[in-house]
Amino acid sequence: MSECIFCRIVRGEIPSKKVYEDEHVYAFHDINPVAPVHVLVVPKQHVDSMAHLTAEHEVAMGRLMVAAGQIARDQGCTDGFRTIINTGRVGLQEVYHLHLHILGGADPLPPMLKR
Ligand code: AMP
Ligand code: ZN
Repeated sequence: MSECIFCRIVRGEIPSKKVYEDEHVYAFHDINPVAPVHVLVVPKQHVDSMAHLTAEHEVAMGRLMVAAGQIARDQGCTDGFRTIINTGRVGLQEVYHLHLHILGGADPLPPMLKR
């Protein structure tokens, strides 16, 4: 069994505030939110990062993207939101199980990167 923290959340071994689940995807509130809405969406199948995706992940990642839009709307982000996938050392990825951040609830959100 994987010791990966997000694999353990998907298996229910670590508690999470779940907002969505299907065959391929699990979504839950970020434990340290940086916006009023901050949800993480993960493929149930472990993959380290976006840089590790291959053709075998296409179905799950397609489902993840469709689910993310629905989750954002369900969380009240009807006028827009931001999605972020941090990847690798340069991207300051902290948890090496691919996850998409949904950020919203501020109007507007702060700029994406400082210029
Ligand atoms: P990243 O920097 O993109 O790898 O983001 C990792 C995110 O995971 C951070 O926003 C953390 O707050 C979040 N996080 C870490 N552990 C947990 C947990 N147990 N439950 C929910 N979110 C978590
Ligand atoms: Zn994992």
